[in-house]
Amino acid sequence: MGDMLDSCYQELERRHIRLTPQREAVLLALYRDRDGHLTPYELFKKAKKIYPELGLATVYRTLELFLGTGLLRDVQFDKGITQYELKDAKGSRHHHLVCKCCGHLQEINGIFPKKLLDQVNEETGFLITDYCCQFYGYCEQCRAGSNYDDRQVEIEKHVRKEV
Ligand SMILES: [Zn+2]
Ligand SMILES: [Zn+2]
Repeated sequence: MGDMLDSCYQELERRHIRLTPQREAVLLALYRDRDGHLTPYELFKKAKKIYPELGLATVYRTLELFLGTGLLRDVQFDKGITQYELKDAKGSRHHHLVCKCCGHLQEINGIFPKKLLDQVNEETGFLITDYCCQFYGYCEQCRAGSNYDDRQVEIEKHVRKEV
């Protein structure tokens, strides 16, 4: 997995992006937490332990910079929260199951059939080179809970049909 960090360094070097101590702290914090997904503030707290003088604004700027290089993936979660993860850190393509009730995030692996991607290409002329899906719904715990209401889901299904 150290290879992955090396390839991040190489990519930044290739793009002539100077690795300041602040930027390196952000990169290292992302790398250490590569199994998870971090909000900018969570990342800030972790990276600050590596480089105490780090400011939150720098974290935001660094995230934008890294996003532009394709090192990162930003994931929009329910309630407008954005979280970040190092791209392909998990070694395989993964998608997210987001619970609309408790916000719980679960990852699933999966490669879409080439046929489906080709179909999009044929219909729209758009060539897909990468993808990550967010599936919204209700997690097992919430579905088992007393507040869960099957009827609400039925209504949503109905609305979806009409769209
Ligand atoms: Zn839930
Ligand atoms: Zn993820």
